[in-house]
Amino acid sequence: MNLSNAFLTPRVSYASVYQAASVAALCCPACGTPQEDELQVLQPCKHLACVYDQEAQQFTFKSDNFKQRLALSQTSITDELDSHVLAQLGYGDGLLALDLTRAGCWSRELFAFDFNAD
Ligand SMILES: [Zn+2]
Repeated sequence: MNLSNAFLTPRVSYASVYQAASVAALCCPACGTPQEDELQVLQPCKHLACVYDQEAQQFTFKSDNFKQRLALSQTSITDELDSHVLAQLGYGDGLLALDLTRAGCWSRELFAFDFNAD
C-alpha cells in the first residue's frame, strides 16, 4: 500500500448497516426521506447517488451526476463497490456509503448518499 497516495485520496465515509425489520425502508441520512415506498419500490431523493447490489455486482440505481462521474473516470467496477472506488469517482467526505444488510435476506446493497447534492 502506498501511504502517501492514501493520504491524498479523498475520504468517503463508509458504514455497515443492519436492518432488523426487512420491510422498513432505509432513510436518507441527509434529509430523512425513506428511499422505498410500501411496495419496496425505490424512491430516490436528490441525495442518493447510487444503489449497488454487492452480490449481483450491478447497479440498481445511478443518479445523473453519478453516471457522469462514472463515464469520466473510466472506472470499471468488477467487484464489490467500496469507498476506494467511490473516491476514484471524485467523491470526498460529502459522500456517505451505507452497506445495507436486511434481516432474512442474503443480499447486500450499497446505498451512497451525496450530502453535497443540491
Ligand atoms: Zn435525501
